[in-house]
Amino acid sequence: MASDSVRIMCPNLTCRRVLSVPEEARGRSVRCRGCGSTIRVPAKPSQPSEKPAGGAPADAA
Ligand SMILES: [Zn+2]
Repeated sequence: MASDSVRIMCPNLTCRRVLSVPEEARGRSVRCRGCGSTIRVPAKPSQPSEKPAGGAPADAA
């Protein structure tokens, strides 16, 4: 079983190759195997937390 991978599309309009990169490549740059362009792998999208388990000081009392 392969771990989670990220799919990104090459920004090169003449290439547009879909690359599968490992999750650990997030925030890094990978090279397109089609055209050789360097593609920035976007960081993990901020997923909606189930519940904010933080202790933010709320002064609005
Ligand atoms: Zn490419």
